[in-house]
Amino acid sequence: MIPLLDLRRQYETIAADIEARLIGVARSQRYVLGPETEQLERSLAAYLGTPHAIAVSSGTDALLMALMAFGIGPGDEVIVPTYSFFATAGVVARLHAVPVFVDVEPSTLTIDVAAVAGAITSRTKAIVPVHLYGQGAALDELVRLADDHGIPLIEDAAQALGARHRDGRRLGTIGRVGCFSFYPTKNLGAFGDAGLVVTNDDELAHRLRIMRNHGMEPRYYHSIVGGNFRMDEFQAAVLNVKLPYLDRWNEQRRAIAGQYRQLLAAHSLSQPNGPIEVLGIRNPSIPNGHIFHQFVVLARDRDQLRTYLQEQGIGSEVYYPVPFHRQECFRWLGYADEDFPVANDAAARSLALPIYAELRPDEVETVVAAIAAFYAQRG
Ligand SMILES: *Cc1c(COP(=O)(O)O)cnc(C)c1O
Repeated sequence: MIPLLDLRRQYETIAADIEARLIGVARSQRYVLGPETEQLERSLAAYLGTPHAIAVSSGTDALLMALMAFGIGPGDEVIVPTYSFFATAGVVARLHAVPVFVDVEPSTLTIDVAAVAGAITSRTKAIVPVHLYGQGAALDELVRLADDHGIPLIEDAAQALGARHRDGRRLGTIGRVGCFSFYPTKNLGAFGDAGLVVTNDDELAHRLRIMRNHGMEPRYYHSIVGGNFRMDEFQAAVLNVKLPYLDRWNEQRRAIAGQYRQLLAAHSLSQPNGPIEVLGIRNPSIPNGHIFHQFVVLARDRDQLRTYLQEQGIGSEVYYPVPFHRQECFRWLGYADEDFPVANDAAARSLALPIYAELRPDEVETVVAAIAAFYAQRG
């Protein structure tokens, strides 16, 4: 059995530290926004190289707060890639703003810059690129485009904590606001929901900080409307134990991705016109330029391959089977399916293979051998 993700293996290596820390929180009786959260914010600000890191309740809430901080509301347009986890578009709709979907680029499945340029109108109030699977969108071009139009760039870095831009800066610190998730399956996972917003802007940071707690400052005085977007101490405690390991874990993921690429080529699966297409790496020479939250390939006969792997005890997943422009809840926006050829192709062919720091080389070999056997038997 090789599951898509096995959290148990990681937990076993740090269980004693985490359990002691959780007991510490229980005994402290400080459950929300206490010393663990403060320490986590300091550590993450230092790790990311940003002055302001604000611990929040989830990655979704991080995105929601970022939009709220810019006052985005009814009638405003927010440009998002049509291919991402639902939260990226959902938060826009929840504010009664209009999500504007654009296609992704074929090599990385991150937002297509030319399509963004074509979608900007006088009503555009933000652009939200997604650093899909753990590698950056085309940030230099997007920053230029956003600056030229005076529109804030909000980075959805939920899958990319620790990944770097080509100039060495960490993803999430390059736009006006960066949003992260600590959902348990992310590269740095909590024991439940948790997230982070970061910004280099002092005034925006203050807004976000009070917005996290109903816009309250001082106690029971509210100058803006926020929400309950607070992180709890149990989550912060877990993350404080895990953060020092993150770069090593990400490095191990990169090594596994390298092994996958090499073995797929060695089995003649990923050559031009082969059945497997490996996604591109934007900056192959930058350490942690891609932190492989997922290792995703585009596969011929994807659904049959997935069933076959399942029969062999090998987990896999489709991220994502339904792009936003095809979602029932967005039908009213009236998009034409043929305007998103790259996302539609990815929806039909993308397959995420098992990847996590503790995955062993012999397991990667087993996965690739099974893929080879599947295509050999089909001819
Ligand atoms: C996980 C994820 C989110 C949402 O984060 P949660 O912590 O689950 O709310 C948003 N965007 C992307 C791209 C994600 O992968």
